[in-house]
Amino acid sequence: MSDNEWTKILGWPGYRVYRSEINEVAKTLRLWVRRKRGHRKLVCSGCGKRVSEIVASYEREVRDLPWSEYRATVVVELYRVRCPDCGIKAEKVEQLPSKAPFSKRFEEAVGQACESAAVRRVARQFGLAASTVRTIDLRYLRRWAESRRKPALRQMGVDEIYLGKKQKFVTVVSNLETGEPLWFGRERKQATLEEFFRSQLSGFQRSAIQAACIDRWEPFRQSLEQWVPQCRIVYDKFHILQHAGAAVDEVRRAEFFRQGGAAREVVRGKRWLLLSSWVHLDRQKKRQLNELFSLNRRVLKAYLLKESLGRLWDYTYEGAMMRYLESWIGQLRWQRLKPLEKLARMLVKHLHGILNYCRTKVPMGVVEAINGNIKALLRRGRGYRNLNYLLLKAQRLAATKTQFLVFQKAA
Ligand SMILES: [Zn+2]
Repeated sequence: MSDNEWTKILGWPGYRVYRSEINEVAKTLRLWVRRKRGHRKLVCSGCGKRVSEIVASYEREVRDLPWSEYRATVVVELYRVRCPDCGIKAEKVEQLPSKAPFSKRFEEAVGQACESAAVRRVARQFGLAASTVRTIDLRYLRRWAESRRKPALRQMGVDEIYLGKKQKFVTVVSNLETGEPLWFGRERKQATLEEFFRSQLSGFQRSAIQAACIDRWEPFRQSLEQWVPQCRIVYDKFHILQHAGAAVDEVRRAEFFRQGGAAREVVRGKRWLLLSSWVHLDRQKKRQLNELFSLNRRVLKAYLLKESLGRLWDYTYEGAMMRYLESWIGQLRWQRLKPLEKLARMLVKHLHGILNYCRTKVPMGVVEAINGNIKALLRRGRGYRNLNYLLLKAQRLAATKTQFLVFQKAA
């Protein structure tokens, strides 16, 4: 093959192949490239400005995309230039985005592979160490994040996620309209959210926030009131229903201990069933629950109350929502369902945040979906020591929606 043909197939803009070497045993291909004659625009890697003075030339070796079964290495002739502002610097080359020994399109192929497969599998596929795959992926994601326009933040979600024994809790701030996480903060305190407002948003950006969907009320409320006073705080439906589910389970456990013998067996192990919504259960599961309910009316009552609470968010008028909640609380009277009474008190305390849903419609369940996506990433990646990497990964996931199953399920 002539150098001209090598140049065409390689397809590096502005560069031509002047030497090639094939090793049929090792299945490797080496190509030596230098600038085409007409391509003399030199750019300083320090400041990005055009420069003309060449100080020296040198060679760099990078891995490029494979050619059929051959692993390809490109040896590039590069220049050191004298920049009026930066002094002596390496020239900037589009195909060489970092100091690592890989071409840009090779890194892109690795990054794309990481979007649908675990790091260890990608490492095997490309014959790289897992740690190398991770650093390539991180660079790939950073380049992507720098190049894109960030959507405006009008509705924000604040949630927490447990990352494990070492990292503990992390506060996740997300954009509810795009379903993407924006920022991770260590711990889950008032100061955590303040750091987000201070370091991530300008005054103008803060003033554009209309609503915030939160779970843990107290630590975040004060910082929201201080930094985004115009923002309406909406209490998240999914979190309230989680509390309701926990209350039903508390009733079940109390009944389990109160009742002896055969009844105990029926109550045993029904936790998951009681947390599921009736419409999502098949016939057999419904029968199991009915069996439990026929033995224990109190568990039935608690379950029905949890089910009916979910319909609170069907209302779009504050008055109607309020009346529904009042009648729901009314049903608790004489039932002696302590855990649900406790839940009712919490709802009354946060009434404003519940009714705010009528004033500002926020998509419910997005916060949960984002949380679920991050957890899925954590399971697949076996822990991220670099939080920024995890954030970029979750953002890319949201933007491409390649694995947005959790989101669809919750919506
Ligand atoms: Zn410069």
